[in-house]
Amino acid sequence: MSLHIVACIKQVPDSSQIRVHPVTNTIMRQGVPAVVNPFDLVSLEEALRLKDRFGAHVTVLSMGPKMAAEALKKCISYGADDAILITDRVFAGSDTLATSYALSSAIRTIAASRPVDMVFCGKQTIDGDTAQVGPGIARRLGLQQLTYVSRIESVDPVAREIVVHRRAEGGVQVLQSRLPCLVTMMEGANTIRFAGMDDMFRAARCEVQEWDHKAAGITELARCGLKGSPTVVKKVFAPQPRANKAEIIDTAGRSARESVQALLERLGSRHPGLEAEALP
Ligand SMILES: Cc1cc2nc3c(=O)[nH]c(=O)nc-3n(C[C@H](O)[C@H](O)[C@H](O)COP(=O)(O)OP(=O)(O)OC[C@H]3O[C@@H](n4cnc5c(N)ncnc54)[C@H](O)[C@@H]3O)c2cc1C
Repeated sequence: MSLHIVACIKQVPDSSQIRVHPVTNTIMRQGVPAVVNPFDLVSLEEALRLKDRFGAHVTVLSMGPKMAAEALKKCISYGADDAILITDRVFAGSDTLATSYALSSAIRTIAASRPVDMVFCGKQTIDGDTAQVGPGIARRLGLQQLTYVSRIESVDPVAREIVVHRRAEGGVQVLQSRLPCLVTMMEGANTIRFAGMDDMFRAARCEVQEWDHKAAGITELARCGLKGSPTVVKKVFAPQPRANKAEIIDTAGRSARESVQALLERLGSRHPGLEAEALP
């Protein structure tokens, strides 16, 4: 039986074009184009590679406003099979707790008609940056979670096993797990493919399925949106630019030893107590 993979993707403002208002210090989003969260494209590519190898069916899922359908269509153009957008006013203002509740409920509903073997998420988003939604979904659905994955070594759909390399502090862990599982992918794990002409036409014609909370199987509205969100972003501000400018030390004609010596002398003259503090 072929694998069924759900890839969760979020539409985010293109952070390279975001500016912070110089007076109010709030993020200026007007006119900023929306893109698929780049980490989610890494996950989607892994899902599509499993589709190439095993004929997996790839469903892309997003929660967001109606305009997020464009992001899902982009994923169809890369080769995803179908797209579901959960969109409803009750989801407005969701934090990671409410987001993972809504997405996990939708995945449960998707799985009722076609069992889900793997859920893919990005490592994190480039706007919220919390990296909590993937683990939140895994916890709610009782899935094994494989986070910060830098490489999928093997997937055996018959034995229902997966082996991955997980980036950990100080090294790489090689983990083996059973399916179903949730994987969050690291940046740099792969390069997203170019959209093929056939898939681009398919994406242009495709109807993204739009689900409200009822269609997504959500019954507890108190767990959605602002009501279900204990976290509040109270303020967003840009860090103060550093007053000290970097200095370039001319090392021409000096050995490395002499250059380091000159640097230490300069530091010592600026911070007289430094030598006593640094040396035992
Ligand atoms: C500047 C800013 C700061 C924020 N800070 C916080 C905060 O501190 N705490 C908090 O609870 N909320 C915060 N939020 C709200 C947060 O954006 C939402 O809760 C968001 O829906 C999920 O959090 P995230 O973007 O951090 O996702 P992450 O947890 O970083 O996302 C990990 C992965 O989960 C999947 N995913 C996440 N959201 C969706 C989605 N809507 N649809 C489909 N897949 C998705 C993607 O695969 C993504 O790569 C913040 C929002 C902004 C704009």
